[in-house]
Amino acid sequence: MDSVQRSTGQAILISDVVAHPLSQMLPKPTVTSWGTYHKVSMVLMEVRTDAGIVGVGEVLARFSPKAYAELIETSLKPRLIGQDARNIGALWQSMRRSLSGRAGGMLIEAIAGVDIALWDIMGKAAGMPIAKLLGGIGREAIEVYAAAVNWVDDAEADRELERYIGEGFPRIKVKMANPVREACRRIERLRKRAGDDIELCVDANWAYDLDQAIEVGRALSANGYFWFEEPLAPENEQGYEELRKRCDVPLAAGESNFTADQAQRLVANRALSILQPDVARAGGISETRRMADYAALHNVGYAPHIGMSGIICETASAHLAAALPNFRVMECECDLSPFKRDLADLEPGCLRQKNGRLDVPARPGLGIEIDWDAVKRLRIQ
Ligand SMILES: [Mg+2]
Repeated sequence: MDSVQRSTGQAILISDVVAHPLSQMLPKPTVTSWGTYHKVSMVLMEVRTDAGIVGVGEVLARFSPKAYAELIETSLKPRLIGQDARNIGALWQSMRRSLSGRAGGMLIEAIAGVDIALWDIMGKAAGMPIAKLLGGIGREAIEVYAAAVNWVDDAEADRELERYIGEGFPRIKVKMANPVREACRRIERLRKRAGDDIELCVDANWAYDLDQAIEVGRALSANGYFWFEEPLAPENEQGYEELRKRCDVPLAAGESNFTADQAQRLVANRALSILQPDVARAGGISETRRMADYAALHNVGYAPHIGMSGIICETASAHLAAALPNFRVMECECDLSPFKRDLADLEPGCLRQKNGRLDVPARPGLGIEIDWDAVKRLRIQ
């Protein structure tokens, strides 16, 4: 019944909203400046309708996924049941009004999951992939980069780099941390090993203060890296502005933002060259699109963040990437975690990519069928 099409104008009423908190051990630990991650969690959203169409979404819930499920059940679900699933903007506003304070945190992440599911329903009802529904550029394939060479010892970092090159990625991200001297050595070493034809960028996950970031930024620019991601904490907007003046490497950030207004200052003054919202955090497809459109107005590129998220986040991002004019390149996480490998019938991007390009799903909605047995297996009881 999922792809039933309704005649224009006929309401599609939401009949049930279910939040599935999921957790898994990573097949290989992720090592960043924050530390080592062995385990990751998320919430899979299921929105059911009286038309028999089921939409799915993903909530970025890196901790306490059961708390997110509780929030959705008690605060969002009552605002959704019985409403027309096609009025996504109105439902978004209604969910946001659960909280009278500034928007952010768990609430916006929870809304993101519902919003993605509503777009999935819209696409299925219209018989169109979300990329087409967004009425954008209509790319059928998008550029991706491999993520990531971890902050591990030289021998292991070399092996990871060579693996991604061997898999055909022409663009690769490298995790960077402290000490700064070690980081600068790593930057030079990997450039030499990769050669000039492979494009490299760096993600520091806020590892540095301003002085350290200037030193690392200059090493990146001397070695031709294409961006320096989250060198500083996201709140340190003045630091980003200063860094922009003091080194030439393009700055990228945005995965820590929840709403478009949080991206406003650094986009408007072009301290950032690239904005990287995560669709499963930043209010879903609706708000992520607002952010990317705002970036486009200021000649700032859009590069979807995926990280340790699952196949729904990756696929929703691919639809946005296909549609938005200022899309540059999408993250493609290469470790095949069950959230990417097992949850749906679509292969993860790192397996589907050829020479750093990925086909955008062409089926209605997100274009994926969820494996509900896998959901049951990964669900926290
Ligand atoms: Mg990052």
